Amino acid sequence: MTSSPVPVFDGHNDVLLRLMRRSGRHPERAFLEGESIGHLDLPRMRQGGFAGGLFAIFVPSEEDASVDDLMARPQYDIPLPGLVPLTEGQRVTLHMASILFRIEQASKGAVKVCRSATDIRGCIGNGVLATVLHIEGAEAIDPDLHMLDVLHQAGLRSLGPVWSRPTIFGHGVPFRYPGTPDTGPGLTERGQALVKACNRMRILIDLSHINERGFWDVARLSDAPLVASHSNVHAICPHTRNLTDKQLDAIRESRGLVGVNFATAFIRPDGRRDADTPLIEMIRHIDYLIEKVGVEGVGLGSDFDGATVPLEIGDARGLPRLVEAMEKHGYDDATIRKICGENWIDVLERTWGG
Ligand code: ZN
Repeated sequence: MTSSPVPVFDGHNDVLLRLMRRSGRHPERAFLEGESIGHLDLPRMRQGGFAGGLFAIFVPSEEDASVDDLMARPQYDIPLPGLVPLTEGQRVTLHMASILFRIEQASKGAVKVCRSATDIRGCIGNGVLATVLHIEGAEAIDPDLHMLDVLHQAGLRSLGPVWSRPTIFGHGVPFRYPGTPDTGPGLTERGQALVKACNRMRILIDLSHINERGFWDVARLSDAPLVASHSNVHAICPHTRNLTDKQLDAIRESRGLVGVNFATAFIRPDGRRDADTPLIEMIRHIDYLIEKVGVEGVGLGSDFDGATVPLEIGDARGLPRLVEAMEKHGYDDATIRKICGENWIDVLERTWGG
C-alpha cells in the first residue's frame, strides 16, 4: 500500500461558514494552523489527503441553526425560512469570499483559489490545497445579474440557484423524511435567465437542494453536464434531498456527476441523523450510483463542517478509512481515484472548458 493518502477533491464543504461564525479575529490563521473543532483545517486536510474541493458560501437565515439536529427524529418536515434580502445576501457573501481570499493570501502559496481545471491539477500535483469558490444559493445575485459578473471575475465558478430556501430564481426542497423531491414549482423566469447566463459564463450549476421541477427546468435549458454536488440515492434513502432514478438517468445522459454526501441523514435508509452509521451504508449509495450513472459520474460531496458524518470518518483525517472501505468492497485503485477526485475535475473541465 502507498504511504501517502489517495488525493480527494471534494464537491462540498461549509468550512467558510464555520470560520465566519467562530469568534476570534483571524479565521485564516485558525484554518491554516489548525484547531480541534469542526471537520476541516489545513493540517487535518493534509493528513487525510483532502487535496481540494468546492468551498461553499452559504448565507444563514436567523432561525436555521438546527436543521441537522432536527433530523435525528424518526420523521421530520422542517419548515424553510423565507427569502433573504439582497443586501444581507451580498453582505454575507462578500464576507465569506473575503475569508477564502485571506486564507489564500496568508497561506504563502499553500492554498489557491482555482479558476480552471488546469489550476486544480497543478495544485494537486504540487501539494497546494485547490479551492473553488461556490455559492450555495443565489441570495447575493440581483435580478439583473450584475453581481454574477463581479463574483465571476472574483473567481466564482459554481453556483446553486437555491439552497433549500426559496430565492428569486427558484425553489429548493424542504428537509423532509420520508418525502419526494417534487415539492413545488420550478424555476422562475429570472431563474431561467440565470441558467442561460451561467452557461454563457461557464459557471457550474449545482442541482443539490433544488426541487424536482427546478431540476427538470435546468435539464431542459442548460447545455452543461448536470451536477448534484452533495446528494444521495432516493431509492435507498427516501429523503427530499436525494435523487430519484429518473434524475440519475438524466445526469448520466448529460455526462454529469453526483457527489456522495457524508451526511448520515441522507445515507441511512431510515433518514436519521446518527453518527453511528457504518461506512458500508455509504458504499451502498456508491454502488448504486456506479450502476445508474456510470463510474465516471460518481464523486464525493462530504458536507464537512455542515453535517453529522459517520464516526469512522470523523473529520478530514478519516478520509483514508473511506478509501479502505472502498478497497475492502473490491473497488480497484483506478476506480477509487476516479471517485475520490478525478471525476470531479473532469466534469469541471467539461463544464468550464479547457
Ligand atoms: Zn447543502
